Amino acid sequence: MYVYADHAATTPLSPAALAAMTACLRDDYGNPSSLHTPGQHARELLDQARATVAACLGAAPGEIYFTSGGSEADNQALLTGAALGAKKGKKHLITTAFEHHAVLHAAKHLERQGFAVTYLDVHDDGIVRPEDVAAALRPDTALVSVMLVNNEIGTIQPVAEIARLCREQGVLFHTDAVQAVGHIPVDVQALGVDMLSLAGHKFHGPKGVGALYCRKGLRPEILIEGGAQERGRRGGTENLPAIVGMAAALQDATATMEQDMAHVTALREALIDGLTQIPHSRLNGHRTQRCPGTVNLCFEGIEGESLLLWLDAKGVAASSGSACTSGSLDPSHVLLALGLPHEIAHGSLRLSIGAENTEAEIAHILKVVPEVVSYLRGMSPVWEALEAGRQPHWI
Ligand SMILES: *Cc1c(COP(=O)(O)O)cnc(C)c1O
Repeated sequence: MYVYADHAATTPLSPAALAAMTACLRDDYGNPSSLHTPGQHARELLDQARATVAACLGAAPGEIYFTSGGSEADNQALLTGAALGAKKGKKHLITTAFEHHAVLHAAKHLERQGFAVTYLDVHDDGIVRPEDVAAALRPDTALVSVMLVNNEIGTIQPVAEIARLCREQGVLFHTDAVQAVGHIPVDVQALGVDMLSLAGHKFHGPKGVGALYCRKGLRPEILIEGGAQERGRRGGTENLPAIVGMAAALQDATATMEQDMAHVTALREALIDGLTQIPHSRLNGHRTQRCPGTVNLCFEGIEGESLLLWLDAKGVAASSGSACTSGSLDPSHVLLALGLPHEIAHGSLRLSIGAENTEAEIAHILKVVPEVVSYLRGMSPVWEALEAGRQPHWI
């Protein structure tokens, strides 16, 4: 048995998305900007996809801008907030220390352009406090960006509350909702956000496509100059097969969300219950304020990379955190932001479950992880030292 438990990195394509994309690739080759019949047909498909994505988010179609993915949407949101702020002489941004690198590195870029950025600490439960945001607001704050669901530990942030206090102060608010859309209900009106990012491949759509919701009246900054596509805010012939596939995946995910949430949450609870029985293990992030599928644990005395390789060999695809940083030897910036020490932050395991995972697959994970952990501890000098009580335990 081989179990894919890395849905926070990416998800398999849903049958609905595959069918929509195949038909589009085969039949709908027209350029949506062309005036002839094939072009107009492609335009109709593009408009339908935009209307579908908008409806799933409680937005208007004119508020959806298609992008090449979550990273581009995040960059566009930060640059939009910065550009609008700069026009009014506001050059301060607030974000958190545990955002995705698409937000963090865009913020660093803006720092090099002369903006001041406050990176808020996250509490040890993996939740940002609205009062910390309120305390960081300044008269020159242009934009606040706080993610809805963290991609490494799965905690849900109080985005509606933070958006409300930003609105009261006349400050723009963006949320990176890439790990939330298609998994938990996301309604831009209920959240009260000005901008929101999503990515198709995190909810069983294709890779390389995403969207930025940008509230009516706000014009997103242009990152790609070119033709008049996306109402003049992003040049380039639209990636229609991917856009159509993303819309089909989101419609599907929205239609089955209630039952999928119940199923995935039950599997996650079984994982947490089983894996926290391993001696000297620790669940990272709030016990319940989390998205259905993501679990992140540390096992004392274990090195994250070897755990992943052994799990792969035993039939479990997992991650040590973000797919973008695994492979590098840097500890997770998310776990460091929670206040975990370096040596612990280096040894984490993220399991992220999807609707197609089964109870039998969870049973396989629950059998394999304890075996691999005790095997690796048996070979670990660090664990030996800890067992001998020569170093204090951290749990
Ligand atoms: C995956 C992810 C992104 C980046 O999306 P891409 O489509 O891979 O560019 C941004 N933010 C979060 C929270 C993510 O999980």
